[in-house]
Amino acid sequence: MSELSFADLGLDPAVLEAVTAVGYETPSPIQAQSIPALLQGNHLLGVAQTGTGKTAAFALPLLSRVDASVMDPQILVLAPTRELAIQVAEAFTTYASKFRNFHVLPIYGGQDFFPQIKGLRRGAQVIVGTPGRLLDHLRKGTLKLDKLKALVLDEADEMLRMGFIDDVEAILAKTPENCQRALFSATMPPQIKKVAQTYLRDATEVKIESETRTVERIAQFVLPVYAERKLDALTRILEVEPIDAAIIFVRTKAETTLLAEKLSARGHAVAPLNGDLNQRQREQTVEDLKRGKKDIVVATDVAARGLDVPRITHVINYDVPYDTEAYIHRVGRTGRAGRNGKAILLVTPRERSWLRTLERATNSPMEPYELPSPADLQKMRIEQFESQLLGFAEDRKLAKAMAMLDEIAERNEMDMAMVAGALAVWMEAAQPGSLPLEQPEALPVVSAAPPRDRKGGRPGGKPGFKPGFKKGPKAGAGKGFKGKPAGKGGKPAGKRPPRQSDAKR
Ligand code: ADP
Ligand code: MG
Repeated sequence: MSELSFADLGLDPAVLEAVTAVGYETPSPIQAQSIPALLQGNHLLGVAQTGTGKTAAFALPLLSRVDASVMDPQILVLAPTRELAIQVAEAFTTYASKFRNFHVLPIYGGQDFFPQIKGLRRGAQVIVGTPGRLLDHLRKGTLKLDKLKALVLDEADEMLRMGFIDDVEAILAKTPENCQRALFSATMPPQIKKVAQTYLRDATEVKIESETRTVERIAQFVLPVYAERKLDALTRILEVEPIDAAIIFVRTKAETTLLAEKLSARGHAVAPLNGDLNQRQREQTVEDLKRGKKDIVVATDVAARGLDVPRITHVINYDVPYDTEAYIHRVGRTGRAGRNGKAILLVTPRERSWLRTLERATNSPMEPYELPSPADLQKMRIEQFESQLLGFAEDRKLAKAMAMLDEIAERNEMDMAMVAGALAVWMEAAQPGSLPLEQPEALPVVSAAPPRDRKGGRPGGKPGFKPGFKKGPKAGAGKGFKGKPAGKGGKPAGKRPPRQSDAKR
């Protein structure tokens, strides 16, 4: 990290004041390198991973160059999705909070034209939008770019992947010749390079190599598990981890809904996040997660793109990602804003080769995740039961309840332990699982070592591997993951408040 401070960079005093108010201490590497170049008016080509602080890298210097008293669009940012557009617009609003009469307008598809046109008519110095809708406004003449000072392509590779490249070029072609341009991307595929060569001649190039920055503050764990036991494993993880908020990644839209329903039935405050939801519902879900109305979101990769909710402490990869890039993006949803995060990956036996691949991609090892042993788990549940019980010991109704039960006990010659026991059994009948009498069963241990003989290892087939059952022959054979006995590392998370899942029902 640079020793530089934001005050050294030459930002507009109002912008500096806003950054100080947000509480950023030092500029991130991409910020330290991009801000001076953009302040000088250069074009900029920035290559850096998610979570490196790109938004402020362009927003702070570009805001320092606008004329806040002019109401026409002066900065235009193109983003691949509405969620990202909203997020970037929010960031701009924060960084511009010390300007007076300043407007930032997000514009994206799926929303009514009317409020957007109204916003444009009122005037906004910064417009952040998705390419398709921006182009619509340009064609209608409701968006004019003649006063534009700067254009930013944020997450350019993602816009390419989503098929926006023609729209992006069409918009670029409509921007003033002398307009400053910046392009940010996590990767540099040839088509993006071509755009850069055409529209960003002589750009200052900034490349932040360390993809590990995203992953640095995130402890990565892996739990090998049979496909049919994934839900059990997940339930236990959610039970023992000290989660503030979590995002669970699955592969399909349908699975987001299914899994969310199952977790909801188990008492979690959970919502699905997928591309089938309309934009309002998606915004609502993200807002609910931010505000703590929901604690868990079950998402697909696309729907969770760029999601920035600082209270996410855990990323759980319920299904393995499609590629390493997706994995890095997923785990980058935690460890936001300088906090620490934890990522847990479930792998089924046939997916174990992912381990090495991901370790290489993130350049950091994955630790074996250890679920608590059945005995530990039961002990935890009993403690939770106890603390919930004690929580009712001062209840207003207690005296009346005691008097009533005393009478019942006397009439039936029962002692109080028997009365209490009967009540507990009754409660269990009404709310299965609330009385932890039985030790939960152990999940079968699966070795993380790739099968030695892969011939039989067909998708869905079992012959390619053998369950480890603690001293399985292959446990410990692979690098970075050993079949340790369960119940040591993945300790129950110390003292926790009573399980919400039970309290909420
Ligand atoms: P990127 O666009 O590279 O994925 P963002 O701009 O979304 O990254 O920033 C990621 C997170 O880091 C945001 O929560 C942002 O508020 C925070 N952040 C950005 N710059 C700094 C900084 N200099 N110090 C601390 N936090 C920062
Ligand atoms: Mg970004």
